[in-house]
This record gives sequence, C-alpha cells and structure tokens, in this order.
Amino acid sequence: MDSEVIEKFKNAVDDSNYIVFFGGAGVSTESGIPDFRSTDGLYNQKYKYPPETMVSHTFYVQRTEEFFEFYKDKMLFPDAEPNAAHKKLAELEKEGKLKAIVTQNIDGLHQKAGSKEVLELHGSVHRNYCTKCHKFFDLDYVIKSDGVPKCDDCGGIIKPDVVLYEEGLDSSIIARTIDHISHADMLIIGGTSLVVYPAAGLIDYFKGKYLVVINMAPTPRDKNADILINGKIGEVFSRL
Ligand code: NAD
Repeated sequence: MDSEVIEKFKNAVDDSNYIVFFGGAGVSTESGIPDFRSTDGLYNQKYKYPPETMVSHTFYVQRTEEFFEFYKDKMLFPDAEPNAAHKKLAELEKEGKLKAIVTQNIDGLHQKAGSKEVLELHGSVHRNYCTKCHKFFDLDYVIKSDGVPKCDDCGGIIKPDVVLYEEGLDSSIIARTIDHISHADMLIIGGTSLVVYPAAGLIDYFKGKYLVVINMAPTPRDKNADILINGKIGEVFSRL
C-alpha cells in the first residue's frame, strides 16, 4: 500500500460531504471474525454441508438443530471489538462527513464503535425473535440456550433476525440504502467480494464523484474505482 494512494484517498475525503460506506465481512476480519471467501474464511473450511446450505432458510427449517450448532459455533463472536475501520467510520459520521454505513455484516460492530446510521442489509445477531409470539431476545439469551433456543414464555423456536439464503431483504432498509447511495458524493466499498446479490447491486445507484474500493482480493468493481486500494481496511483507515 503506497502512501500516494492514501494521500489521494485523504484529499478525496476532505473534498466530500456525503460519504456512504458499503461494507462486508472483510471489515471485521481484523476484529477476529472470519469472512466467507478468504483462504481462511468459512467457505474454505470443511463441514458436512457447504456453509451456503447451512445458513439457508431450508436448512433452518428442516435441520434446525444442526443449523443452530453451526450458527452458534461459527457465526457468533460476542467478544469481538471494533477495529480501526469501524472506529474511523464512526468518527467521520460524528464530523458530519459520513451519512450512512450500509453493511452486509451481522455482527453489530459498527454500532459498538458508535456509528448511528447503520443499515444492516442482512440483519443482526443481536436481534432474535420467538417465531410464535414474537417476543424479543438478545444475543446472550441465544448463546446461553442449550441447542435450539426456545422462548421462555411460549416455548416457540427463537429465530435470529438474520437474512438467510433464500430469504428476502427488508424493503425499507433497501429504500434507505438507495436514498443514501444516490445522494452520496463519495462511496467507499470495503471488505466485500461483491458477489452476494441483491446487496451488491445496490452500489449501482451511486452517481457521485469518488468511488473508492478497499479490498484485499480483487472485486468485480475494481475497474470502476477512482481510487483503488489493495490492503487491509483497518490499516488503511488508521492511516487516514
Ligand atoms: P466475503 O467473505 O464474500 O468477502 C470478504 C472480502 O473481504 C474478500 O474479498 C476479502 O479479500 C476481503 N477482506 C478480508 N479481510 C479484509 C481486510 N482486513 N481488509 C480488506 N479486505 C478484506 O464477504 P461478503 O462480501 O460480506 O459476503 C458474505 C456474506 O457473509 C455477507 O452477506 C455477510 O452477511 C456474511 N458474513 C458476515 C460476517 C460478519 O458479520 N462479520 C462474517 C462472515 C460472513
């Protein structure tokens, strides 16, 4: 990562007043949460079924016990802390420069860093609801439950408010995302392989001045970037 590109990024941030950040699992790897598609990501570890299968709606319905076994073991990181990227993004929002974070992550680390306008396209592990009576449960309740988490009022199964494969995205979150992205003068895309749709398609609404891509591996949008940074996103933001 050369200093010239960081300088260019810095100057573009100074010149922008409506920054939107669009991120994915790569934003949290420096906080110790594995992503899906890196070499040490979940897709390259060996399971009985591929991870896409295990985090699908069908699997949740048909093999609920195995779903929760995988989910609790591989997708919950209650002790993870925000890294330099989460923290700098929260600072930029406080300064009034950044207007929204759109994330595919479900870990809640942007909020933990202090960000307010966080649009969670794929939900959050911190919200869980009884499928029968809709009572709310926090992450701690799910972690402490034995096997399949059950409602302490009615005995119904508790489902995490996480968008599983085969499930649709929340239309109001999509509308707010489109609104922010279409008003942005800078869109920073970071830590995402941009292969999960419809989420990745939302960046097409950007028509502002600076498209910035920060990722370790190449992405399908590298060719469109005004500023392309191949590197660790926490390191990049700590140099801003
Ligand atoms: P992905 O695993 O497909 O891609 C992650 C990308 O980030 C890769 O291209 C990788 O090269 C890059 N990357 C990894 N570490 C990085 C770093 N430190 N700095 C810069 N780039 C880095 O992730 P995705 O595109 O978000 O799609 C996967 C889906 O998995 C999402 O829908 C998300 O909901 C879910 N997921 C979420 C979490 C989380 O909440 N932390 C973790 C795993 C998966």
